[in-house]
Amino acid sequence: MAKCTRCGEDVSPFQRDIFTGACRRCQRAGARPASLGCGTLLLIALIVGWVTGSMRSDIRDMSRDLSDLEDAVERLEEASAAQLEEIRELSEALEADSLPES
Ligand SMILES: [Zn+2]
Repeated sequence: MAKCTRCGEDVSPFQRDIFTGACRRCQRAGARPASLGCGTLLLIALIVGWVTGSMRSDIRDMSRDLSDLEDAVERLEEASAAQLEEIRELSEALEADSLPES
C-alpha cells in the first residue's frame, strides 16, 4: 500500500493521483500542490511555444521561397516576352523579304 502525500493515509496505488500522489478524498477536498501544477503548465507552455515558434519559422521560410519563385517567374515572363518580340520582328522581316517575290 502507498501513502497519500497529503493526509498520509494508506491508499491503493490505483486510487492515487499520478502526478501529486494524493488520494481521491484529498483530490476532492483540495487542489493539487501548486508547484507541480505550475511545473506542468510551464512545460505545456514551453511545448506550445516551441511548436508555434517552429511553425512560424517554417511559414517564414515558405514565404521567402515563394517570393524567390515569384521573382524567377517574373524574370521568365520578361525573357519570354523579349523572345516573343524577337520572333515577331523576325517573322515580319521574313514577310517583308518574301512579299516582293510573291
Ligand atoms: Zn489523502
